[in-house]
Amino acid sequence: MNAVVARTRNRTLPEQLPDLNPYHIPSLPELFSMIIVMEQGATPEQIKHMIERVEAFGLKAHPIQGTERTVIAAIGEKRSETKEALASGPGVESVMPILAPYKVASREVKKEPTQVVVRDLKVGAGSIGIMAGPCSVESKDQILACAHAVKKAGATALRGGAFKPRTSPYAFQGMKEEGLKLLALAREQTGLAIVTEVMSTEEVPLVAAYADVLQVGARNMQNYRLLEAVGKTDRAVLLKRGPSATMEELLLAAEYILNEGNPNVMLCERGIRTFEAHTRFTLPLASVPYLHHKTHLPVVIDPSHGTGHTYLVPDMAAAAVAAGADGLILEVHPDPEKALSDGYQSLNFPQFEETMTKCRAVATALGKKL
Ligand code: PEP
Ligand code: MN
Repeated sequence: MNAVVARTRNRTLPEQLPDLNPYHIPSLPELFSMIIVMEQGATPEQIKHMIERVEAFGLKAHPIQGTERTVIAAIGEKRSETKEALASGPGVESVMPILAPYKVASREVKKEPTQVVVRDLKVGAGSIGIMAGPCSVESKDQILACAHAVKKAGATALRGGAFKPRTSPYAFQGMKEEGLKLLALAREQTGLAIVTEVMSTEEVPLVAAYADVLQVGARNMQNYRLLEAVGKTDRAVLLKRGPSATMEELLLAAEYILNEGNPNVMLCERGIRTFEAHTRFTLPLASVPYLHHKTHLPVVIDPSHGTGHTYLVPDMAAAAVAAGADGLILEVHPDPEKALSDGYQSLNFPQFEETMTKCRAVATALGKKL
């Protein structure tokens, strides 16, 4: 044995190491969180039976269909005999604990990547979905021009805010329902899926009536009642990372949505606050492979808010694709100089086309569809 190894082995560790991260999520002893791995040939009846068994224990059952087998995540209050009782069920191969603090979002529960599909928008599992459009819906002409231009260049979703979370109460707050109606009109003309932000719990039914994808903005990432409300809808959700939220907090926010039974969640890295001031936010692209390691949910990058400068967007979009991003959300405006919000980071139509060409070249090199 070499000396270094021997020294390490003989070192006595203090009884309790100090917890250096005061925000660390402790494991909850009262929480039962297990995955029931069904045998490869388990029948639909056996799966249904096990879901009923889980529910009979007062636990929430989240069945997850993989390509080879089904697993059922069982989450709820702990009782000592539960694990053994479930393990002896018909068609059950094993019952294992889920170690991550987030459960349904975890890779432990689902090995295959999740693909979110809304109309022609496909995000994840080898497909890169492009959501493009203005920061805010401003007029009929503006949104229709944008919709046709981004569709022509290859986007499959139109983004556009009708309810805008603005830093100043005096800034343009969005066209609200009028804006939602214009987005619906743009969808009618182009077939593009509509991605738009919902800012409050009370507005979820209204926004969900028009939108295909509900965007939860960075400022609302930890608005837990809003997360529950979008989790109760049948709309896909684009969950943006808060500028000062950790990856674990982002994944636990996603867990709120999944826990309500909505599996169609996309995580969006849109940049974080650092000491650096040359960009509006700092865009950490390591988030993409990191999240892919921790979760099966698709990861979308927002290079517009992530950089805050039009000239930085095309290269960071291509870099995001190279890092493995499953989707991009990009701000595009017919005349960025006249935009009512975020014009300084918006692409005009030719710039968007160039960005698409660049990203497509990277995607092709990686064997992905864009
Ligand atoms: C937006 O998409 O226009 C927006 C407000 O984004 P974020 O929530 O990331 O700031
Ligand atoms: Mn914006």
